[in-house]
Amino acid sequence: MTGNCPDIASIQDVKAPLRSECEECVKSGARWVHLRTCQTCGSTLCCDSSPNRHAREHAGTSGHPVIASAEPGERWLYCFPHDAFAKY
Ligand SMILES: [Zn+2]
Ligand SMILES: [Zn+2]
Ligand SMILES: [Zn+2]
Repeated sequence: MTGNCPDIASIQDVKAPLRSECEECVKSGARWVHLRTCQTCGSTLCCDSSPNRHAREHAGTSGHPVIASAEPGERWLYCFPHDAFAKY
């Protein structure tokens, strides 16, 4: 189910968003489409459909590979370096 991504396989408890807003977009007053929560540090950031793609940027700069959807009712994880997707 997790493909060959050891990052997703190592996650025991999925981190939920602390706030339903992108931490970076709120600083600049930008808009976002969907939210994702970093599973390494718990930061909630915006998705690839959002203009600023902060979740992808965060993965690239911080090396935190896995995000979870922070959208209500969505239960899935995604690993950027492995392009791996898993429902939970
Ligand atoms: Zn991975
Ligand atoms: Zn953002
Ligand atoms: Zn992070």
